[in-house]
Amino acid sequence: MYEANYLAARLRRASIGAEDAPFLQNHQTGETVSYGDFFTNAEKMAAVLVGAGVQPGDRVAVQAHKTQAMLELYIGTILAGGVFLPLNTAYTEAELTYFLGDASPRVLVCDPKRQDELAPIAANCGVAEVLTIAADETGTLTERRNTQRGGFEPVARAADDLAAILYTSGTTGRSKGAMLTHRGLSSNAETLKDVWHFTQEDVLIHALPIFHTHGLFVATNITLMAGSSCIFMARFDADAILGYMKEATVLMGVPTFYVRLLEMEGLAEASKGMRLFVSGSAPLLVETHDRWRELTNHALLERYGMTETNMNTSNPYDGDRRAGTVGLPLPGIEIIVADPASGETLPHGEVGVLEVRGPNVFAGYWRMPEKTAEELRENGFFITGDLGKIDNDGYVHIVGRGKDLIITGGYNVYPKEVEILINDLPGVNESAVIGVPHPDFGEGVVAVVVPEPGTELTPDTIRNAIATDLAKFKQPKRVIILDELPRNAMGKILKNVLRDTYTGLFA
Ligand code: AMP
Repeated sequence: MYEANYLAARLRRASIGAEDAPFLQNHQTGETVSYGDFFTNAEKMAAVLVGAGVQPGDRVAVQAHKTQAMLELYIGTILAGGVFLPLNTAYTEAELTYFLGDASPRVLVCDPKRQDELAPIAANCGVAEVLTIAADETGTLTERRNTQRGGFEPVARAADDLAAILYTSGTTGRSKGAMLTHRGLSSNAETLKDVWHFTQEDVLIHALPIFHTHGLFVATNITLMAGSSCIFMARFDADAILGYMKEATVLMGVPTFYVRLLEMEGLAEASKGMRLFVSGSAPLLVETHDRWRELTNHALLERYGMTETNMNTSNPYDGDRRAGTVGLPLPGIEIIVADPASGETLPHGEVGVLEVRGPNVFAGYWRMPEKTAEELRENGFFITGDLGKIDNDGYVHIVGRGKDLIITGGYNVYPKEVEILINDLPGVNESAVIGVPHPDFGEGVVAVVVPEPGTELTPDTIRNAIATDLAKFKQPKRVIILDELPRNAMGKILKNVLRDTYTGLFA
């Protein structure tokens, strides 16, 4: 019966007949949930949604803590023919007003604590029903789920139908709703399952948020598709993860996970039985990659993706995992580098804007046809906005975001080039290089540098140390020392926040 629903069928196939196989070990409750029970609950969620009036194509928005019930709601929405729309838990009332107005969901699921604040906004946006799930899984949604029976007949959905809308993280401007199809999500999970060799024997440590493509689609869909199991943690907890490594096989994380784990005693021993560590969603420093390999004997596998495309590249499972690169295009996915001005394809080795084409690419931005036309070419290539190059061996290197490109006195400066040099200096933990308005040069290069704990660094030491390695126009005109860089929930450095903070520096 699942076969009529394109994505649900593919997420269910591996576990049919293996109803008792474990799907999820809940870190919070200690309980293990079987595939059979998980899907029965998801079917009940679908029945609740249909009861609340959800029709095929209707959006189901959710801003809630990471719980098993929220994962059931994701699959339940797919089964009900709806479009899952998860929202970052950090979003404020003002941001939610924008998202709900833009997406006009049929149902909103939120934390019971926010219900009073959000109900009037939801009503204004035409939301028919507001339901709740708390961090401990109590709430009106789970209460209703418990009154339903399993055995819901999945609503028929085809490959091109929408399965989810994810708003982009908005590090470079207003969030846009990326429309993701049943085919897009399922083809990407299938590819990753194969290239990362996932099987029923795998146990994934799932500590990523599920409002973002990494934790929701990469981690969850691969697990389901392979019939693997996961250890489901509401948040990153280095101690607990170290403990779980003894029974797990794979960890997926953002670079900050790995930086923090490197500080833990016992990492080398704990990681011995693991087969794979995947990193992505933000740039992994070469230093982190090197230290991880030295300490654990594992080469971190870095991959590159985005909300609009799921995953595009991966370092090889068998073969050379090269630090500082995001690996090779995934099977069935094409990547080209285009001249930012003319759009023409550039030869290997030259830096330009990365463009991606494949079944993974989204169907466009929700209710933004102009934005879609600007970024999604008629020939199917999506203009990622990431600057990068492809080397002679085919490995993709990311150099920064298009919006991060600094133009100073008419010259282009790629922040990454300067950051790599600064990060290599003794006593430097990390850095972010930005351009801020400058009366003579248009933009002036500014380096914001975080020293290693207990190290004294001065702006002059840094400026002097890189003076001979960089053309004068690339050298930071100012260096600012900070204790830490502003980041979003996925560990991405918020350069827009830095640019706003230092905008008056040269005024
Ligand atoms: P998001 O849509 O929030 O997943 O953000 C996608 C963006 O994250 C990409 O366009 C890249 O700028 C960045 N990103 C993702 N993975 C990597 C990576 N491995 N290295 C560098 N940047 C990355």
